[in-house]
Amino acid sequence: MRSLSLAYFYPDLMNLYGDKGNVITISQRCAWRGIGLEIDEIYLGVPPKGDFDLAFIGGGQDREQLLVFQDLQRHGDNFKSQVAGGLVVLAICGGFQLLGGRFLTYQGEEISGLEIIDMETIGGQRRLIGNIIIEAWLNGRVETLVGFENHSGQTKLGAGAKPLGIVKRGFGNNGQDGTEGARQNNVFGTYLHGSLLPKNPVFADYLIELALKRKYGERATLEPLDDDLETQAHAAAIARIDERNRRRWVPSWFQK
Ligand code: GLN
Repeated sequence: MRSLSLAYFYPDLMNLYGDKGNVITISQRCAWRGIGLEIDEIYLGVPPKGDFDLAFIGGGQDREQLLVFQDLQRHGDNFKSQVAGGLVVLAICGGFQLLGGRFLTYQGEEISGLEIIDMETIGGQRRLIGNIIIEAWLNGRVETLVGFENHSGQTKLGAGAKPLGIVKRGFGNNGQDGTEGARQNNVFGTYLHGSLLPKNPVFADYLIELALKRKYGERATLEPLDDDLETQAHAAAIARIDERNRRRWVPSWFQK
């Protein structure tokens, strides 16, 4: 039986807008295919057990980030060497910001990140909030991802990071350059809450497949699932955003 292990960072502190649903989705989609998933929940002051195939950290407000960032630094060297070896990481919003160089909150506090993604975040006075649609390049294809964002931090990517996607509706990394999220090695960061993965199963499977290939070799594949309900949820979320956007401000980079 194939099996994977997942490090779940700070489930109690970094969990906004149902981010935990991402871990449940990965776990359930593995279970449906007979793949075991062992989840190691990592709390403040508790060391992780060892090496992992996947890691997840959810969103948190500036307050929670201030609570966890020093603890996260303790995992830095270990985390970085696993990332260099292809560890598959998903980080949402506040967790995403903690993987960059630094986050300067709008109140002027400086939070150091793990420097795993080449990027920096500066807090702004205006909150970037609302439903969001992006187009992401996943597994050689352009895939539409849908979610919800709410952040004051504005992220600028450096040359070492690629955006996860391009914003079609909403704000994304900074509300200005049209980029959303980041990818560097097998580390994915995004502002999309929602939960993200339940209604974007293609992204969930991409992450699982990357982890399987890293562990079992390039020929490891995932058999498809019946995603009828997930596809309906995805389509319904997009339809709702389109409906609302008819009455709302649309960013300047919006393209048909
Ligand atoms: N505290 C961060 C911000 O507002 C992240 C918020 C979040 O995770 N939703 O920028």
